Amino acid sequence: MFGVTILGNNSAIPSHDRHPTAQVVTIEDQILLLDCGEGTQMQFNKYKVRRSKITYIFISHLHGDHYFGLIGLITSMALLNRVDDLHIYGPKNLQQIIEIQLDAAGVILPFKLTIHAITETKMIVDEKKFTVHCFPALHKIECWGFIIKEKKNPRRIDLEKTIAAEIPKSYYEELKKGHDYITKDGTTIVNESVTIPNAVPKSYAFCADTRYDESILEHIKDVTLLYHETTYLKDQPEKAFERFHSTTEQAATIALKANAGNLIIGHFSSRYDTITSFLNEAKVIFPNTKLAKEGTTFTI
Ligand SMILES: [Zn+2]
Ligand SMILES: [Zn+2]
Repeated sequence: MFGVTILGNNSAIPSHDRHPTAQVVTIEDQILLLDCGEGTQMQFNKYKVRRSKITYIFISHLHGDHYFGLIGLITSMALLNRVDDLHIYGPKNLQQIIEIQLDAAGVILPFKLTIHAITETKMIVDEKKFTVHCFPALHKIECWGFIIKEKKNPRRIDLEKTIAAEIPKSYYEELKKGHDYITKDGTTIVNESVTIPNAVPKSYAFCADTRYDESILEHIKDVTLLYHETTYLKDQPEKAFERFHSTTEQAATIALKANAGNLIIGHFSSRYDTITSFLNEAKVIFPNTKLAKEGTTFTI
């Protein structure tokens, strides 16, 4: 399973039954939390997200609608006697903010919490089956986007053929990487004759809060599923620019230029009671657009 569940899709002020930003990515048996706006824990309860399965939390920036739920979540994890390590990645001031709050409340964590400061574009998580890279978004304050990519060997073993060719199991990892096999008598068994090409690894990019910015394209090129904010409809480009946000047209244009497979749009301004116009406008430019409706899981 590789999918993302939307827990919050509103900007700044929670309203119209819409919550501030939070998304959970499920990959293999792990849950990754992307941003943690106010009310995220209530959304966990509503949509049956298990806190104990969260191994990583990524905070894009320190506007409250993206992390005001974090101290509550950490405190609940302590109350629930979590034992597993927890890693949080975010802007440099995050560690100090959380430490002050824990200290002031006299909370002693029963688990190891590591808050990593993001300072540059790079790979920040390297797990057996996936990686997470961060990249800068163009917002009013320091802000980071994240891309989660499946790891896959280029080739899969064709068991029937490897057994027939008497290739030892200990060499399978090399075969998966595309290497040929040389038998004891010096015969070369060509890799393609005993392996099958693997499906292209899938990826999910979360672009956080951002102004229209083509410099993110290099980080999200050919992404399977893209989340891009659309705080405003297309008739508000000046407001979007001034407030370091994007419009429907701008988000859809980024998806098109990035050659994304699908686009999810969210972070809707509280000025809009309904969100269907967001979908209609974005689809004109990028037909494979979906609304980040709360409670929806998108399989990547
Ligand atoms: Zn925001
Ligand atoms: Zn923001």
